Amino acid sequence: MELLKGKTALITGAARGIGRGIALKFAAEGANVAFSDLKYDEISQELVQELQLFGVKTKGYSSDASSFEDSEKLVNDVLADFGAIDILVNNAGITRDTLLMRMTELDWDLVIRINLKSIFNMTKAIQKVMLKQKFGSIVNMSSVVGLSGNAGQSNYSASKAGLIGFTKSIAQELGSRSIRCNAIAPGFIETDMTAKLPQEVRDQWVKTIPLRRAGTPEDVANLALFLASDLSSYISGQVISVCGGMHR
Ligand code: NAD
Repeated sequence: MELLKGKTALITGAARGIGRGIALKFAAEGANVAFSDLKYDEISQELVQELQLFGVKTKGYSSDASSFEDSEKLVNDVLADFGAIDILVNNAGITRDTLLMRMTELDWDLVIRINLKSIFNMTKAIQKVMLKQKFGSIVNMSSVVGLSGNAGQSNYSASKAGLIGFTKSIAQELGSRSIRCNAIAPGFIETDMTAKLPQEVRDQWVKTIPLRRAGTPEDVANLALFLASDLSSYISGQVISVCGGMHR
């Protein structure tokens, strides 16, 4: 269908998991894909090779989304290499799950810096580009636990809820320039992040999901595609769940 033909997308934390799924989906729909991760290693190289099979321009960058300087440099480098950035997917994120009783200051600071400050860093760096071109779609990766909270994830839930407030504010600030900003709230998605959980915890999660299965990166990528493309041209400031009916 080539829903993103001629568009350039920048996706953070895309070497694996959901970000990787989004990169592949966007390339399949004709987008040029720039992506970042903490390290540009063999996994990133493999992704570049896979993306090239779609005949689009692509490049991976080593960049820490939680660093203000790195984010600024990443946006400038991508602009120099691709000439434009139409879509930003703020996907990079981590967990440091534990009950508040055991949570250290470092557990809190790390999660807030990587999951929430990164969104500020990247959006701040890209806004000048999008304001100038009077066009852009920003997609922020939240979580259903940002909507509902979850025991053992107070740091993560707070970061993902904060991201929703940021998304809604940016949608209001930049809407008059045709820049849209939305958030995705995935439920339980099979990636390295959830593979860390014990099998019994994973089985318990699946039992609570009305569709009785974990989601895939492609399930999330399908919504990212919709929000990045002109199919959603009148949708901004929204949070949409991809959770098999888990969040009600
Ligand atoms: P993942 O751990 O499989 O992949 C995350 C990627 O982000 C990794 O490649 C990692 O190296 C990269 N990364 C981490 N910190 C970074 C930083 N500071 N700068 C740049 N890259 C960084 O995780 P995933 O499951 O694919 O999660 C992707 C996003 O989706 C995260 O924001 C996560 O919170 C969110 N999410 C995931 C689930 C799930 O069930 N997997 C559910 C809800 C939300």
